[in-house]
Amino acid sequence: MSVMWRVKVAGLSLVAVSLSVELLVWLLRRLRPRKALNEALFFPSEIACVEHIFTPSSPHSCVCFLPHGVETSFSRLLRHILSTSSSLDLCVFAFSNMDLSRAVLALYRKGITIRVLADKDYTAITGSKIGVLHKAGICVRCNANSVHMHHKFALVDGRLLITGSLNWTLQAVQGNMENVLITEEPDLVQPFIKEFHRLWVLNDPAQCPKPSDQKPTQVFTKTSN
Ligand SMILES: [Zn+2]
Repeated sequence: MSVMWRVKVAGLSLVAVSLSVELLVWLLRRLRPRKALNEALFFPSEIACVEHIFTPSSPHSCVCFLPHGVETSFSRLLRHILSTSSSLDLCVFAFSNMDLSRAVLALYRKGITIRVLADKDYTAITGSKIGVLHKAGICVRCNANSVHMHHKFALVDGRLLITGSLNWTLQAVQGNMENVLITEEPDLVQPFIKEFHRLWVLNDPAQCPKPSDQKPTQVFTKTSN
């Protein structure tokens, strides 16, 4: 075997070994279980523009007066909600936040299956977005009895749990000390899926006030937002 031939064989062997190592590393990365997502957010959130989250294709298009390009607790929350790819189950006592309502409606228009469990009394007050969601065609059910539906949780794709003290109101996001825990831990996600299902079956859609039935009252603004 000529020297040139030996050099070629040695070179090719080296390339083969290097490719094999790379393949092995890639395989090990793929096989290694991904760490479950866990995140804690605290409010009040810094006030910043969130337009780029709704329009990621043109992130610099907004010219409003708010700070841009700032990642906040609220922008993180919005990103998690907008990451929904198949289903969103929502169980929130007070829901009047315009950006969160916009996010839910945007998901619905994308064909995401959305179910909303709401509090019958809060749904009836002016400013509640539950009527808007209902009017858009989203399935909404309200608590059938006098006990408040006081939860604040959402389930993204039956995989990600978003829960905490935060009502989905501007006051809670920008004015209150609140917490939100976001987790993919199955031991935590599963009981919430089970509870959502239990409440969904239990509560009658006919109990929800129609959007036209909304009445102006401030009953919940001080105590429960
Ligand atoms: Zn802006």
